[in-house]
Amino acid sequence: MRNLRSLLCLLLLILGCLACMPGGEPEPETPEAPATPPLEWAIAIHGGAGAPKDLSDSEQLAYKLALEETLALGRGLLETGSSGVDVVEAVIRKMEDQELFNAGRGSVFTNQGTNELDASIMDGETKACGAVTGVTTVKNPITLARKVMENSRHVFFAGEGAEQFATLMEVERVDPRYFFTQRRWDAWQRVLEKEKAAADRGTVGCVVRDKAGNLAAGTSTGGLTNKRWGRIGDSPVVGAGTYASNDSCAVSGTGIGEQFIRNAVAYDICARVQYGGAPLDTAARAVIETVLNEGDGGVIALTPDGTIAMEFNTPAMFRGAATSQGRFEVAIW
Ligand code: ASP
Repeated sequence: MRNLRSLLCLLLLILGCLACMPGGEPEPETPEAPATPPLEWAIAIHGGAGAPKDLSDSEQLAYKLALEETLALGRGLLETGSSGVDVVEAVIRKMEDQELFNAGRGSVFTNQGTNELDASIMDGETKACGAVTGVTTVKNPITLARKVMENSRHVFFAGEGAEQFATLMEVERVDPRYFFTQRRWDAWQRVLEKEKAAADRGTVGCVVRDKAGNLAAGTSTGGLTNKRWGRIGDSPVVGAGTYASNDSCAVSGTGIGEQFIRNAVAYDICARVQYGGAPLDTAARAVIETVLNEGDGGVIALTPDGTIAMEFNTPAMFRGAATSQGRFEVAIW
């Protein structure tokens, strides 16, 4: 009996060893989740926080397509290693050339029925910046802003001085009638007739973190519908509508410019990140929700690690974001 038990134990031992020997059925491997590749680049764009509440389906589609095409342009340039400043300029130029957005071609009208365009650009690596305001014949104000940044010892040109600098720099000019679009004209008429309480607005902007790790930001606008001629908003004011520093973040704003100037919105967000150690989304949300008033506008922002924030306190903001890690999205509401 004892012999039989020993034999059984031996048999079990042998079977156990056999099962452990290589060549037996391999243990099924648990598939490891693919590691997220390190971030190489990131981009966010906006097309203004002034979307009307009653956009038709076809209008929504047109805006989404335009945002997607613009974002795809930025993505392509960033993938091939373009610098942040190059991408910001190219992306904003594309938006300036479309009627849909309140910048360049689609700019709104002043109280005199004219179009006065503003833009600014900033390089986060060097803090070089350039801005123009009140231009009436410059097809792409963002390009002139860049020329101010790179080809002058100043940072900000206005009106006639800006136009003259445009001639010197040989940037593309157009007859002021180029900025006439029926839609913006009708919007101005409605404001004049007081049919519409809130002024029509818009603006375009772009913030980028390029492959070299540098930040850049830019903003371009026609301003607010029926603005008094000569009025300057936040978009060309560095620190208010635009800011970029590799030490903190890049920001482009859209909304009621007077409020953005009063509160140095773009710089306030970056200062909270740099000196207060606030995460970007906390900083951006705090400024939008507690510094500005409901309905004032919104911002897009990003940090050198590629974190993106898109905050607004209006019913909608045309916006989009993409990263080298596969994010690609556009939204309105
Ligand atoms: N911020 C622009 C301005 O006040 C307008 C806008 O963003 O809609 O000129």
